[in-house]
Amino acid sequence: MPPPDPEPLPGLVDAHTHLAACGGRTEEDVRAILDHAEAVGVQQVVTVADDMVDARWAVAAAHWDERAFAAIGLHPTHAGDLTEDARAELEEMAADPRVVAIGETGLDFYWTTRSEDCADPAVQRDAFAWHIDLAKRSGKALMIHNRDADRDLLDVLAAEGAPETVVMHCFSGDREIARECINLGYVLSFAGTVTFNNSAELREAALIVPDGQILVETDAPFLTPHPYRGQPNQSYCVPYTARALATLRGVSDEQMALILGANARRVYSLPLR
Ligand SMILES: [Zn+2]
Ligand SMILES: [Zn+2]
Repeated sequence: MPPPDPEPLPGLVDAHTHLAACGGRTEEDVRAILDHAEAVGVQQVVTVADDMVDARWAVAAAHWDERAFAAIGLHPTHAGDLTEDARAELEEMAADPRVVAIGETGLDFYWTTRSEDCADPAVQRDAFAWHIDLAKRSGKALMIHNRDADRDLLDVLAAEGAPETVVMHCFSGDREIARECINLGYVLSFAGTVTFNNSAELREAALIVPDGQILVETDAPFLTPHPYRGQPNQSYCVPYTARALATLRGVSDEQMALILGANARRVYSLPLR
């Protein structure tokens, strides 16, 4: 059962979602998801691609509805798909004005040992480096996925040279990693995980992020915020996590929402609605 609607908050943006995986296959489905989100104050969303089929779809969705923007790239687990043809196609997509970020890219060492289909660490590193370069050349934000790879991920970024805007999607590190990312000027995006009972360490990290470097996201359909964990997530659930961040950081819910929304619009260069 989907969670109930939260009380609305003003000016929010879902900084990372997967509209197609939320059941938004058609133009009508996408509009319904975004209408629902807008009714509780979530005005814009960034829908993120995992693979080539998803990337083409994300660009199309971003053209269907003015509230949707796309991030295109190959998820690290799909890094083996980065053929010459895929590179050429992604470069073309990156030039589309509705594409606001390159990714999700990065490193995922959780699935390397658990799935035979997952790309090897070396293949992931090469693909990550290519995506970093594409972000720099296209002037778009770099949307980072990191699972069990903190040190390696920061090392690759340092070696390649980070683009101007780096978004650490679904930030999952501890206070030390957060401090390192903050000092490098990266933006930390928090998903429903920050509300989970067993996430005390992550909340410590969320507490030290400066106002200008924090985002909120759903990563829907996954990571539904507490107390709805395990139920289907969608962009309309953003206010739950935004409120949790407000409580944690000791500011009003409205103030937190305005900070989070303004940051997303700056990071992705979104128009004001
Ligand atoms: Zn991810
Ligand atoms: Zn994601």
